[in-house]
Amino acid sequence: MKYINLMIKPDTKINLSKISTSDTNGFNSKKEAKTRLKENIKKMAELQDKLYAQDKYAMLIIFQAMDAAGKDGTIKHVMSGLNPQGTQVYSFKQPSKTELDHGYLWRINKALPEKGRIGIFNRSHYEDVLVVRVHDLISDQITPLKFRNKNIWKQRFQQINNFEKYLYENGIIILKFFLHISKDEQKKRFLMRIDDPAKNWKFSEGDIKERGFWIHYQKAYQEAISATSKTYAPWFIIPADKKWFTRLAVSEIIVEAMKKLKPAYPKLSKYEIANLKTIRKKLVDD
Ligand code: AMP
Ligand code: MG
Repeated sequence: MKYINLMIKPDTKINLSKISTSDTNGFNSKKEAKTRLKENIKKMAELQDKLYAQDKYAMLIIFQAMDAAGKDGTIKHVMSGLNPQGTQVYSFKQPSKTELDHGYLWRINKALPEKGRIGIFNRSHYEDVLVVRVHDLISDQITPLKFRNKNIWKQRFQQINNFEKYLYENGIIILKFFLHISKDEQKKRFLMRIDDPAKNWKFSEGDIKERGFWIHYQKAYQEAISATSKTYAPWFIIPADKKWFTRLAVSEIIVEAMKKLKPAYPKLSKYEIANLKTIRKKLVDD
């Protein structure tokens, strides 16, 4: 099965309210999905091993979503089989004072994965065209008044595209996932977090406040995704009302993208092989 139809083609204006949050791409069995996810995790681990040995490409996997859409769970389940040595996860929170003293891509640059590694961003520079836009936080970020113009979001989309293109041209393969949850499903999950003492820690009053801005967020997401889904850094909109499907779809897309890189263990030259033989002989005779 191909999930490529979840990819947003460049220069497509999307309307999130018209995109399903519960579609399962013809997949109906949760059990079958779980088996397939397991297989995908195994494949991912094998591919990652080669990616790491090859030390040529890095992968950057970005997760964005409304609260309770399942970012944390997806990261936990899909990435569970990977070798921690080749993986780095970074969660972007509200920027610190020091971070605000720099351009918004500064902290992003610092958290990028090294060659050979898979970097996972739980939130990202997209927050700077989402929460910053919805709550009008731009004045915390840009001090000179004359730079805070009407076109700031367009300008930022352009900056983000340039930045991601530069990353791609330097061997960083980018995948961007928007976990698309419905407002009803979010309500259910919030209620579960409130009712289950083991889940209380996941809930904060702020989440309810953000829920109140639902429409504004959907609009900001829709514009950001429409403007920044590119062949060098595609967006995937993943229906997120069913967790089992979200996880399966994300794993399929990552495996596909890794396979495309054709990672392989480095091959030694004739000279290096001969040299290894000499060393081996010395070691045996030692
Ligand atoms: P959580 O994902 O629950 O740990 O929450 C992190 C919070 O940090 C979210 O409410 C984000 O909206 C917020 N956040 C992340 N990046 C930024 C940013 N650049 N500016 C303002 N808030 C941010
Ligand atoms: Mg939260």
